[in-house]
Amino acid sequence: MEKQAEAIAQLIRDNSMYVKGGFRPYFCNNKKFAEKIKKCSYIYPIVGIDAASSEFGCRPEVFAPVFRRLRAVSRKNTLDSLYEKHDMQLGRTFHVGEDFYDIVDGLRAIDECIFFLNFESGDRIGHAVSLGIDAYSYYKTRNFNIVLPRQILLDNAVWLLKKMEEYSINDSYGTKYKLKEIFETYFRTIYSKIDASIEDYYASWMLRGDEPSRTKDSLQSEWKICAKNNFKPILKQIRNNSKAMDLYQYYHYSKDVKDKGEEIAEYQLDDGDVLVIREVQKKMRQKIAREKIAIETNPTSNLRITDIDRYSKHPITVFYNRGLKPNYDPDQIMVSINTDDQGVFATSLEKEYALIACALEKKRNDDGSPTYSPKDIYKWLDDVRESSLVSSFLDDEMS
Ligand SMILES: [Zn+2]
Repeated sequence: MEKQAEAIAQLIRDNSMYVKGGFRPYFCNNKKFAEKIKKCSYIYPIVGIDAASSEFGCRPEVFAPVFRRLRAVSRKNTLDSLYEKHDMQLGRTFHVGEDFYDIVDGLRAIDECIFFLNFESGDRIGHAVSLGIDAYSYYKTRNFNIVLPRQILLDNAVWLLKKMEEYSINDSYGTKYKLKEIFETYFRTIYSKIDASIEDYYASWMLRGDEPSRTKDSLQSEWKICAKNNFKPILKQIRNNSKAMDLYQYYHYSKDVKDKGEEIAEYQLDDGDVLVIREVQKKMRQKIAREKIAIETNPTSNLRITDIDRYSKHPITVFYNRGLKPNYDPDQIMVSINTDDQGVFATSLEKEYALIACALEKKRNDDGSPTYSPKDIYKWLDDVRESSLVSSFLDDEMS
């Protein structure tokens, strides 16, 4: 990862010498690249990076150091001041929350993306389906029973409990007690040799954005600096918690912990759990809207991969519904409509827009009347198009 990150960093630096309107071979230290570029009339600079792969077995923590490292690379060079209008930080997209063991797992992955990659205004989450789908119908189709590896169940339970505290979520059904029971049972089973509290365990989860093999090195290279998630002040405090540090090491390096954690567990949810999960979805949407992190939606990809079986059930209108409803939510998330992998899903941007427009036109209220007027739908779609351009990482002249 370190080698690949440094290669991409070098490419960004080389590439930014050749921007629209000028060819500057004397600044390039990559001869092969310079030769290749001579054949093009001009090229666009690299404006962003994206990670989009299978989510199972590859949580955001895996590529977090790469994303932090590449954010530290500036697209600026000495001549950029001639044309530059904006801050030239690299834009970032991370596909997450499309494929998950259950909604809580998908929500935790989104939270990990934001926290470990240090996502901020202008960054983009790809999919984020778990943030918008209806939790009740999702769990109902599974008879409120979920099956997942023990380690994931333990992590999800502790994470959900801490989110309930963070967002002051009502606990009228005793969900916190159930989550603490999961911790007691599975922590003892998986980490049998250690004694630690839920607080220590949650602290160790926060460390997972760190690159494990490098955290004890003395810091020299930029990679090593970015290998540690130093963006959040709370992590400095946590690194003084020896229990959290031990748990973090066991999580990565103990074969016993890994073997026990991979065994399968089952969990039965009740209505109270689902209410809590819905509330966490809502609070996270509000947070993402306020932090101005954008969501790129890929309707066809989501229909093939997730539970969503109709375009009209796609959560894009849960994220952004200004103009569609008379009383829309105050916190609107910046959304865009995208294709994901055009080849794999045999689609195009035009098709994705048309499918969403069609779905909204066909949507009916309980009494059979159309939910939205065509005028509102096309105005809404145009707003989405505009917001896509704003979140596209491109400068005005490039878009
Ligand atoms: Zn994707």
